[in-house]
Amino acid sequence: MIKGEEFLKFSCTGCGNCCKDVIVPVTSDDVRRIMTATGRTAAEIVEFYDSTEITTSQRDRGWIEMRAGRRIMGLRKKRGACQFLKKDQCTIYELRPVTCRRYPFNLVLDERGKIQELSVHRAVKCLYELNGRQSQRELKLTSDWEDRQDATYYGLVKEWNRRKARGTKLAYLRFLGLVEA
Ligand code: SF4
Ligand code: SF4
Repeated sequence: MIKGEEFLKFSCTGCGNCCKDVIVPVTSDDVRRIMTATGRTAAEIVEFYDSTEITTSQRDRGWIEMRAGRRIMGLRKKRGACQFLKKDQCTIYELRPVTCRRYPFNLVLDERGKIQELSVHRAVKCLYELNGRQSQRELKLTSDWEDRQDATYYGLVKEWNRRKARGTKLAYLRFLGLVEA
């Protein structure tokens, strides 16, 4: 029995609030995937947000130490919403960051890796219905994918942060291999 089992009936109404009200943190793999398919540069896709702009714990492993201060890499916004949102539709749906795929679910797994608890993020007003049918298997696969991608990216952030010299946004993107040296 999963705690929060009712959320397996979650049904997204497509209100678009989660693409407007929050900044989506991204990893180097997310950015590379979007670059390859859209032809946009990394600098066009991302922005670096400070603690006054993004709500996340100071202990978040995504904090990058830069010359300008600590920053989190997230999708660049346009007119207050994700730049990829057009007419309340995601224009890069097949390429979207893994965080967008997992949103709005929070999963707690047991020691065997099975879903123990399911809840829905409260970061934005999510106007969902409970008349759908979510696949536990799909939720778990997306969560595992996100964990793997995060582990790789946080390893890179750690490596960058160990450097004594603090770099610029461009130097960081170059370090990630998203801009040619
Ligand atoms: S990439 Fe797509 S799903 Fe993710 S925030 Fe932007 S518009 Fe929404
Ligand atoms: S806020 Fe909730 S209901 Fe609205 S688009 Fe996002 S996930 Fe769907």
